[in-house]
Formats: sequence, structure tokens, C-alpha cells
Amino acid sequence: MIQIKTLKQLKELCADNPADGFIQLNGGLKSSKIITYHPKSRWFVIENSIDGSTQTLTARQINDKQHTNIGQAIKKGALYLDIAGHDYVCECGAPATHNIQTIYHNYEITPEGEFINEDQWEGNTNEFYCADCGD
Ligand SMILES: [Zn+2]
Repeated sequence: MIQIKTLKQLKELCADNPADGFIQLNGGLKSSKIITYHPKSRWFVIENSIDGSTQTLTARQINDKQHTNIGQAIKKGALYLDIAGHDYVCECGAPATHNIQTIYHNYEITPEGEFINEDQWEGNTNEFYCADCGD
């Protein structure tokens, strides 16, 4: 489940690929949608599960609440997509391809100068990067 933070991220994740998503509404309710972005025509196609309706919208209309609440939901952090294999996301919003973690080691140093691993534990760093940002 990925929280959508920008329209750019939504475009990348739904480009020619219908994505199941939902808007988290007040009171724990969810409004399910299937969202596809067509990069060539720059149209979004939104299938609204609640009434079976389908909308074809421009990016501008996505941000216009007269057409859909998706733009508002992105601003509130309330739009989520369920994309198989894309559970981890880079800060830029692209699917993550790399994960960096820190591991701390505690070594005992013997009189002979040998290092003996006494203990190790996970650090606080657990960062996800896409191929573009990871370099
Ligand atoms: Zn990135």
C-alpha cells in the first residue's frame, strides 16, 4: 500500500497500468477507485467503485473538486494505491529498488589485537531509494 503524495507520483504509478486505490474518508470509510493514467493523451481514467461510474479527467480536473476528490485526497495524504511489488517507495515517489540499513557492531578487542564480534543491532537508518536517487 503506497500513500500518494504528488500528482507526479500518481502518474508514474498508474501509467498505462490500472491501479487499485482508495481514498481514506472520515470515520474509517474507504472510497475505492481504479485509476489509470494514459501518458500519451495525458488523460486519467477513474473508475469509481461506489457507483460504477467511469470518469476521464485531465490533471487539472483531478485537482478540481467539482470533478473528483482525488486532488484533495492527495493533499491530505488520504489517497493510497495497492500495487503489487511496489510496497516500498523512494522519497521521490518512484518504486524503491534499493534499501539501505545500518547495523551496529560491538567488538571486543583482544590483547593480540583481534576483533571479536560481541554484539550487533540494527540502527535507525532504513531508507528506500529508486534507481535514479540511489546513486
Ligand atoms: Zn527516487
